[in-house]
Amino acid sequence: MKIAVLSGKGGTGKTFISTNLAWVLSENKKVKLVDVDVEEPNSRLFFNIKINREEKVNLLLPSVDQEKCTHCGKCSDICEFSAISAFPTATMVFKNLCHGCGACAMVCPTRAILEIPKELGRIRFGEINSNLSFAEGELKIGEPSGVKIIRELKKMVEDKSSVILFDSPPGATCPVVETLRNVDFALLVTEGTPFGLHDLKIVYEIVKEMNIPSGIIINRNSDEFKEIDKFAEENKIRIIEKIPFSRDIASEYSNGNLFVIKNEEWKKRFYDIFTSIEKVVKS
Ligand code: SF4
Ligand code: SF4
Repeated sequence: MKIAVLSGKGGTGKTFISTNLAWVLSENKKVKLVDVDVEEPNSRLFFNIKINREEKVNLLLPSVDQEKCTHCGKCSDICEFSAISAFPTATMVFKNLCHGCGACAMVCPTRAILEIPKELGRIRFGEINSNLSFAEGELKIGEPSGVKIIRELKKMVEDKSSVILFDSPPGATCPVVETLRNVDFALLVTEGTPFGLHDLKIVYEIVKEMNIPSGIIINRNSDEFKEIDKFAEENKIRIIEKIPFSRDIASEYSNGNLFVIKNEEWKKRFYDIFTSIEKVVKS
């Protein structure tokens, strides 16, 4: 089962949920915790991880041999990102716009386009314990998009015998869409505030559009703010758990500890989160 843990913005608690949930489930299941928040991966901070493999992810950038180019314009016509332009005297590639899709090289009638690898980032794999494995992607500083790293990483961790938890990037942009592709469930983490509700609505629109079953966890819940309950009811989304604001939880988190380890009640409640998800996915 593949579960994406996401939130409309950073700092809402998705890493807190992903890491604690992964730990609890690994007591009796094979689990993969996969940090796809490639601009700022931080799930690893909560574990003592032995990294045993690291791979580069490259983008293939086109480079035009001006001697062979006839300036026919077929490459610029096919490029969806306006990253290559054929002028009468030269054909130019705008590297920051290029997604490395290879379409221009495929259509070039004179084979004037070479594809040159450029490092986009890295993917790492490791072990936390015998049931819990770990993977993360990291985008190189200055690179504009981590979508390709997320796509590669998701392919590499594919495994039908494990529960795979994706700690998603924040926000509601292309990396989030890539994370959500082919997952079985989207766990929407929000906080009990008007800002939390605002971001939840944005991310829920994507999940709905992609037709992915979802449920909500309200982190740092406040009983005074009822608007998230109202939104969930109107949209028929189940609120799976409400986690109150607690100094103990905040302090464990800021010290890099998993709070379920010391808390039997919450260990059970985290397991129940998974049971609720399983019921929806299997229904
Ligand atoms: S398709 Fe090839 S030949 Fe035509 S403009 Fe582009 S690089 Fe030049
Ligand atoms: S590789 Fe794709 S995105 Fe880059 S210039 Fe060619 S067609 Fe455009």
